[in-house]
Amino acid sequence: MNRVLVPLELDASMPMLGAQAHCLDGQTMGTTWQVRWVAAGASPSELVRVAVQDELDLVVAQMSTWLESADLERFNRAPAGTWHTVPEAMAEVLAAALWLAEISGGAFNPAAGALVNLWGFGPSPRYTDPGFTPPTEGAVQHALALNDWRALQWQAASRQLHQPGGVRLDFSAIAKGYAVDRVSRRLSGMGLPHSLVEVGGELRGQGLRLGGQPWWVDLESPPTAPGQAPLPTTRVALHGLCVATSGDYRRVYTHDGARWPHTIDPRNGRPLANGLASVSVLHTECLWADAWSTALTVLGREQGLALATAHGIAALFVQREPDGRLTETLTPAMKELAG
Ligand code: AMP
Ligand code: MG
Repeated sequence: MNRVLVPLELDASMPMLGAQAHCLDGQTMGTTWQVRWVAAGASPSELVRVAVQDELDLVVAQMSTWLESADLERFNRAPAGTWHTVPEAMAEVLAAALWLAEISGGAFNPAAGALVNLWGFGPSPRYTDPGFTPPTEGAVQHALALNDWRALQWQAASRQLHQPGGVRLDFSAIAKGYAVDRVSRRLSGMGLPHSLVEVGGELRGQGLRLGGQPWWVDLESPPTAPGQAPLPTTRVALHGLCVATSGDYRRVYTHDGARWPHTIDPRNGRPLANGLASVSVLHTECLWADAWSTALTVLGREQGLALATAHGIAALFVQREPDGRLTETLTPAMKELAG
């Protein structure tokens, strides 16, 4: 049995007669991007590539933890007691991240960079490096003391951020979604309102694809244990809608293969071990889909379900039970989309 999710609001504008499908892809943020769009006549491919690259480069230049010159990395290296002017895009993401940190009780934490690095999920050392050893208890405690987002003084109006000393920002759980939103808006601004934008498995669909259908995307479930029937495939109409997935298993759309959880529980300083295989979130903004999917993954099924429900978030939890069986849980907003 399969499940079909369709947004509650439909936009009636159709791609013009004679429209053609176009596709471009590339690499960014240690992963891949892909843009599909529908437009009439000759393909403005090169213009689109330049525009997409421009948006992705802006996000990387401000918010990458992999680029020494990024504004975020400069903040991370800055001496204690210094104030920094945060560029506009980074300020937008920071404000969203701080809000979610507050309401998730620190399950989502944009200041968890010291912990992320310690467990080898940052640029270096990588947990995959030969000889990498998990951190000692003392090192975990030290990094835990540095991951207090409340210790950050943020003056939104003047975009001033204070480095209290040793705090390392990490926006990797939210920046991909934000980049997807920027690319999608940029395309609309260029007169291309029918597009599907993807960065590293986070997607945003606007308008319709060729033939007047919405952009259909399948969220594939993790493989079930022997003896358990496969879980349903969830098919989503990304029509003014975004989807992001977090967890120890991600298989969205054309992406295959499992991935390890690079997610830390910033409340205890350790990698997640709550049995969640994946959490997918649907939202009209990909920034929020991305951030919420990480937050809910850290919170786990019970706490996550309660918080998502309270905020009207459409989420699908796939839990690996102690006996190896997979179970799915949908929030009320997700059930509503499923009709
Ligand atoms: P995502 O794939 O969106 O769930 O983001 C995972 C990435 O976000 C990791 O690779 C880390 O860089 C960072 N991260 C890990 N744990 C957290 C957390 N609890 N809150 C915010 N960011 C995190
Ligand atoms: Mg995320």
